[in-house]
This record gives sequence, C-alpha cells and structure tokens, in this order.
Amino acid sequence: MSDEKQTDRRGFLADGARVVGVVSAGVLGGYLAGQRGQAEENRWQIDPDKCVGCGNCATHCVLDESAVKCVQCFDMCGFCNRCTGYYTLDGLDSRDTAAADLLCPTEAIIRTFVEGKAGQDFYEYTIDTDACIGCAMCVKGCALMNGSLYLQVMHDRCVNCNECAIAVACPSDAFVNVSADKPYRLKRVALGVMRQKAGKADTAAQKLLDQVHADE
Ligand code: SF4
Ligand code: SF4
Ligand code: SF4
Repeated sequence: MSDEKQTDRRGFLADGARVVGVVSAGVLGGYLAGQRGQAEENRWQIDPDKCVGCGNCATHCVLDESAVKCVQCFDMCGFCNRCTGYYTLDGLDSRDTAAADLLCPTEAIIRTFVEGKAGQDFYEYTIDTDACIGCAMCVKGCALMNGSLYLQVMHDRCVNCNECAIAVACPSDAFVNVSADKPYRLKRVALGVMRQKAGKADTAAQKLLDQVHADE
C-alpha cells in the first residue's frame, strides 16, 4: 500500500499510552453549544468492556455525525499484519488493502508499516477521528483478537444530553455516567497495565490514569 511508511516500532511501543492523545484532545476541545442537559459534573461515556458493537452508536446520536468514535489502545494492540479489525475475513487471506477487503466503511483506519522482525511484519493502526462514524465494525473485528479498538463518546462533540439517545438504544447497558474531570475510560486490561507501569514510575502511564475514569 503506497501510504504505508516505516516508523520506529520501539518508539511507539515506548509510547504505549498514546490513546491519551485522543483523550486529551477531547477534554480540551470544549463542548458544542446548546442541548446540554446533565449536570455539568457528569458526562456520558461508554464502558468499553460492555459494548458489543451493535452499531447503534453510529445511528442513534442526536447529532448528524455521531459523537461516538473509535479509539486505539496501543497497549493492547498486537500490531498484527492479519488484523481482524482492519480486514474483512476475505481480506485477511489476501491482505489486499483495496477498499472491498477492508472492514471500515469510511477508510478511517490508517495502517502504517512499522518493522519486519523474525519473518513477520508489524503495522500500526490509527483512527482518523474525523472520518470515523462510530459504526463499530472494527471494534467487533478486533474483538476476535486483542480488542484494542473500542468506542468512546468524544467530549469535544457530545452535547451531553440529559437522556443520551444512544444510551436508551444500547442493548448492553454500556453507557455510564462519569465525572466531567475524567470523562474517558480504558478497557479493564489496559487499566491494569497502566497501573503496573505507573507503579514503576512511568509518568506517561500516570498521566493517562489521571485522565480516565475507573470504577473501583
Ligand atoms: S468505528 Fe466504523 S467508521 Fe470508525 S474506524 Fe471503526 S470501522 Fe471505521
Ligand atoms: S449525549 Fe447526546 S450528543 Fe452525546 S452521544 Fe448521547 S445522543 Fe449523542
Ligand atoms: S449502542 Fe452500546 S453496544 Fe451498541 S455500539 Fe454503542 S456502546 Fe456498543
């Protein structure tokens, strides 16, 4: 694929908390005017461990473009060549990057070659948030492997409705209220990894933990 460019795998493995970039952008991005409903101290968010990727997040938001987007948790990603969140099952065999073999309907997943090692190729998968429609196709696909792709309500887009229309339509009760100062969530697995890292004085991990909501 022509846009696959080589990056330093060690570099981004060391920067495993890069989901924090998405989180920070959302926190700092402010809120859209109007329709705000809940008390300002609370926000809607998706518990990624409960989401079953039903697709309602793309179609039930009150906004024309859903406030829900996919995020990538690099600490959970296997950087697989045969990525089940990127390819259709047919595409997995051919590994052809033509649109017909890709899961994402909007080509919002950007695949970048990282390195070849021990006869295997490793790739980074990042999300173009503007192009993502929150359809969860990749989320369901990635769930077959490591589950590093998951959905979050983006708080630079969400207008914080009193009754979130997606929460009403969610079949798995995945929508939860979280505090406004920590309006994003990690998967439980990543939370455990981050806590271990933070315990070893990893400042990036601690910075991420400071920004995400975690049920105790
Ligand atoms: S949620 Fe849908 S639109 Fe967004 S990256 Fe995944 S497959 Fe693409
Ligand atoms: S609270 Fe409103 S704007 Fe936010 S995700 Fe739910 S329906 Fe969309
Ligand atoms: S409605 Fe619920 S289960 Fe469906 S994609 Fe959204 S969070 Fe996941």
